[in-house]
Amino acid sequence: MGREHTYVCPTCGARITRSFRAPSVMRSCENGCSFGHFLRADVLERVDSVPVAARPDDWAELEVEERLLVAMREGVVSLPDLR
Ligand SMILES: [Zn+2]
Repeated sequence: MGREHTYVCPTCGARITRSFRAPSVMRSCENGCSFGHFLRADVLERVDSVPVAARPDDWAELEVEERLLVAMREGVVSLPDLR
């Protein structure tokens, strides 16, 4: 049996597990959130650790992909983290 990886809905926090490892999974959330990326749990944790001072004013409205870009720009997430 392979390892399971956890992916999290950035809107409501719903979790799913998949047997493959990827930065994110495109799917619609069973809680009615808009169709989008579920981020792997450890990636989302890093995105959430972007310091408040480094977040743009519209952080709360950004799509999770845009937050990920900010996290990468800030050096909180690097390419190896996405493997
Ligand atoms: Zn959701």
